[in-house]
Amino acid sequence: VIMMGQAEHSVVTTCAYCGVGCGFKAEMKGQEVVRMVPWKDGQANRGHSCVKGRFAWGYATHKERVLKPMIRKHITDSWKEVSWDEAINYAASEFRRIQGQFGRDAVGGITSSRCTNEETWLVQKLVRAAFGTNNVDTCARVCHSPTGYGLKQTLGESAGTQTFDSVMHTDVVIVMGANPSSGHPVFASRLKRRLRQGARLIVIDPRRIELVSSPHIKADFHLQVRPGTNTALLSSLAHVIATEGLIDEAFVAERCETKAFNEWRDFVSLPENSPEAMAEITGVPAQAVRGAARLFATGGNGSIYYGLGVTEHSQGSTTVMAIANLAMATGNVGREGVGVNPLRGQNNVQGSCDMGSFPHELPGYRHISDNVVRAQFEADWGVTLQPEPGLRIPNMFEAALGGSFKGLYCQGEDIVQSDPNTQHVAAALAAMECIVVQDLFLNETAKYAHVFLPGSSFLEKDGTFTNAERRISRVRKVMEPKNGKSDWEVTVALSNALGYPMNYRHPREIMEEIARLTPTFSGVSYEKLDKLGSLQWPCNDDAPEGTPIMHIDAFVRGKGKFMITKYVPTDERSTRRFPLLLTTGRILSQYNVGAQTRRTPNVMWHSEDVLEIHPQDAEDRGVKDGDWVGVQSRAGETVLRATLTDRVQPGVVYTTFHFPESGANVVTTDNSDWATNCPEYKVTAVQLTRVSQP
Ligand code: SF4
Repeated sequence: VIMMGQAEHSVVTTCAYCGVGCGFKAEMKGQEVVRMVPWKDGQANRGHSCVKGRFAWGYATHKERVLKPMIRKHITDSWKEVSWDEAINYAASEFRRIQGQFGRDAVGGITSSRCTNEETWLVQKLVRAAFGTNNVDTCARVCHSPTGYGLKQTLGESAGTQTFDSVMHTDVVIVMGANPSSGHPVFASRLKRRLRQGARLIVIDPRRIELVSSPHIKADFHLQVRPGTNTALLSSLAHVIATEGLIDEAFVAERCETKAFNEWRDFVSLPENSPEAMAEITGVPAQAVRGAARLFATGGNGSIYYGLGVTEHSQGSTTVMAIANLAMATGNVGREGVGVNPLRGQNNVQGSCDMGSFPHELPGYRHISDNVVRAQFEADWGVTLQPEPGLRIPNMFEAALGGSFKGLYCQGEDIVQSDPNTQHVAAALAAMECIVVQDLFLNETAKYAHVFLPGSSFLEKDGTFTNAERRISRVRKVMEPKNGKSDWEVTVALSNALGYPMNYRHPREIMEEIARLTPTFSGVSYEKLDKLGSLQWPCNDDAPEGTPIMHIDAFVRGKGKFMITKYVPTDERSTRRFPLLLTTGRILSQYNVGAQTRRTPNVMWHSEDVLEIHPQDAEDRGVKDGDWVGVQSRAGETVLRATLTDRVQPGVVYTTFHFPESGANVVTTDNSDWATNCPEYKVTAVQLTRVSQP
């Protein structure tokens, strides 16, 4: 897969995997990649990379890529290769038939955080302008939607506050529900450098991640929280800060809403929120909580980095707000070395949210019911937009099962593998009449599709990605699309076939439209990106070269708002029938559901998902290292190979989700975050039984 030899030219582009957004030089010989070299001027990575970005691009030329459009009348029929025109016209006629028969809102679209900003913009535009509905959602629904909600409520903007470089100015770091060594390796190496220089570390995680204890790094505190009790733990940390006089009173008085702060302080000071009272719930000794709280509040610049172990819970949004509360209470927002920093999973999660892929928000996080904003889009797009929010992904599934949602355009997202409760998703898809999948491969979702539109890889496209630090970077075409059409051209063709004309000659013109209609992007252009390398939004007249650190003099919402974050237990608790709690994570060499990395030589590092189980729990069940175990939940059952380890505590088991056969999402339930419906992947009550090889 990796071509060796002499390069003829090179093209600077951006990695298509994680939210770090590393810059790379693709060294090319004709249309073949010779090697990917980390770009030394890349502002997110500064010449560094991980194994995924450096070696795992072979999927772009993998033999399983589908390069011809295909259609079939029924999902039990064989696929038939057709021309682009025939596939697109068929899809458009089916969508229109469904709308004629079942109503305008019987169709919708799902955008992908793996696609560019420009592609995502077009899909939400197609759904709103050509379909005439707000039934558009993004795969961020299932990862960082609580970040968007929680940070908007408290700080006023749905994004992280810092640059990655900021970590070099921090004194105390909280890493919560994230494993940067595997999920965000290039950021992790910068964090480790700062830790080796003497910054202190508090890890909040049910599992002993690598940062807790590695050869040169020892966390000061590992608060090994029981899955599902993050909010309780944060309340107990806040209790110590509020009752021991550790609040940054000057910051709060100047920068935050007084009434909300007073209510919050009264709330967290209640005895029921003390570390001693909460220890019963969280499993974390009170003394460790008190020590960690004192360290964070008094140790200098304090920063918080968090991941999906925070958001993918029934209280995901509550926990994000509790994190923001903690940062505000200790005065840790608005300068270098501090802040609230969501570690975004996919390369363009931030961008897919920024581009208005939510059913209730137009680009730039403006509510669809805002008449003034809607009018701007209506004037520019020449259509009337619906003022009511559309369906979220889980609501689309419910509506499909109820018979009112019949058609779906799904770009670059494998919802059958990535969404929880696989059986439920599959049943919903099987109930629809037209599913259009646009992807590189015939993925699990394509098994339910009627039209397959070949997608193109990041090497074959122009556009931009926005990383976890709001950094917009250029994606540049290093080879021609192997399928003959760029992804944005496919969406344009579908829109034209639906009778809503779109006219662009190049993604540059889509970015011009984004800048015209999105205040936080109004100063962004390809010319400026080429000149400056990248830009962090907001980029506008006030900040023509972007905004590395947000909320410096005032919060985006004006005054910061403390929110009451009461702990509410999840339904997923240990019971006699399902006594163990399953949680999930990632491994360095594989990326998400593995559609790309499984089609590269990466499998030499990691070729299956395993179940980590504490030796005590294993012994109780007669399970030995390497045995196969059946994992049952109230949603379903799968089989995994057991690895005995004390990285997990007794009562907790852990797996990754990179291989479809492991079926992690066969067992996860459809519990979800109360505010955003982000699924509760991170805690599922399960039972294990030893089984013979599957
Ligand atoms: Fe960088 Fe992430 Fe790509 Fe690794 S996977 S090279 S850390 S963007």
